[in-house]
Amino acid sequence: MIYLDNSSTTQVKAEVAEKTVNAMTKDFGNPSSLHRLGLNAEKIVKESRAIIAKAVNADPSEIYFTSCGTESDNTVIKSVVESGKYRGKKIITTEVEHPAVLKPCEWAEAKGYTVIKIPVNKNCMIDLEALEDALDADTLLVSVMAVNNEVGSVMPLEKLRELITKKAPQALFHTDAVQAFEKTELDVKKLGLDFLSISGHKIHAPKGIGALYVKKSVHVPPFMLGGGQESQFRSGTESVPLIAGFGEAVRLAEADKAARIKHIRETRDYLKEGIIKTFGERAQINSPGDGVCSILNVSFTGCRGEVLLHMLEENGIYVSTGSACSSNSKKKGSHVLRAMGLSDDAIEGAIRFSLSEFNTKDEMDQVLKTLKEVVDVHSALLKLQHPGKFRA
Ligand code: PLP
Repeated sequence: MIYLDNSSTTQVKAEVAEKTVNAMTKDFGNPSSLHRLGLNAEKIVKESRAIIAKAVNADPSEIYFTSCGTESDNTVIKSVVESGKYRGKKIITTEVEHPAVLKPCEWAEAKGYTVIKIPVNKNCMIDLEALEDALDADTLLVSVMAVNNEVGSVMPLEKLRELITKKAPQALFHTDAVQAFEKTELDVKKLGLDFLSISGHKIHAPKGIGALYVKKSVHVPPFMLGGGQESQFRSGTESVPLIAGFGEAVRLAEADKAARIKHIRETRDYLKEGIIKTFGERAQINSPGDGVCSILNVSFTGCRGEVLLHMLEENGIYVSTGSACSSNSKKKGSHVLRAMGLSDDAIEGAIRFSLSEFNTKDEMDQVLKTLKEVVDVHSALLKLQHPGKFRA
């Protein structure tokens, strides 16, 4: 098996699984209990929180565990709107956010807020002029992703912070860093962030665990009410096993960060060069050259991405046609590729390869060989089925 769908989810590392299982079978206490088992569980939660806080240069008290990236994103938008404490009726985001941000923005719109979606260029880069124009004294929140999940563009968060400070200093600043965490440098202080969302299962931790950074001076009401866990902000008994796994995944990722990112980037670039060499004009690279290390989005001319996906799958190669977290939606085509100005054909023929540290150049050789075979077969079949479309 060659797994190239790591932006959808990742394989849990053995060390992470061990920590998770230990917290289920040995240290299984409730962190709120006063006895030794409870204290052990509390210690695990505390340690994981400290590891995650350090990874983004936050204070441990600014990290709240959630169930996933989606919950973190929802919490920010819904809590800011519900707060009533912060001024403004305008939320600024981009056209290429994950539905975990776009849907709560629609919810806010229905409540009477104005939502401005800033466009992107053909490299999936935010239009800074449009952002500067949109920022004003009525801006409540700016939510812009750190890395786009479909093509891997890295948004210029430092520049965004500058513009926000200049044009809308009262606005709160959130980034969905689900695809950026442990693949780029994320320093909440340097970036002047008020909120940052991350998710465990994108970095070899189990599914069902995420975290939200909330700057100490920012006060928004809790999204989940109940027993008052997570400093009253996110009630519900902490998932100690998943928190243990998340902490261990971050610890491992931090330990070899630079070398790991370099390896992923080199493997990805090897695949990219191979595709350009093998397919020439029959392949269009949709990911920007300066994107995140792990993502390569390519359109194969005259092909249907979904068909290629299944043909590759038959050969043990797993890829995605876009954002797997939202790809069950019946809406036609990727809203990200559309916002980048791609043609319908290019959108239909797009495949996302997303790598992890486990991938190798030998695997990429195998992928290139199989890709050539399946693209040739698929194109030939399509030409037979639709001869008119392919006449010169
Ligand atoms: N935000 C981005 C950019 C994502 O890529 C994803 C998932 O792919 C999410 C949010 C949702 O994260 P989760 O699956 O942890 O809810």
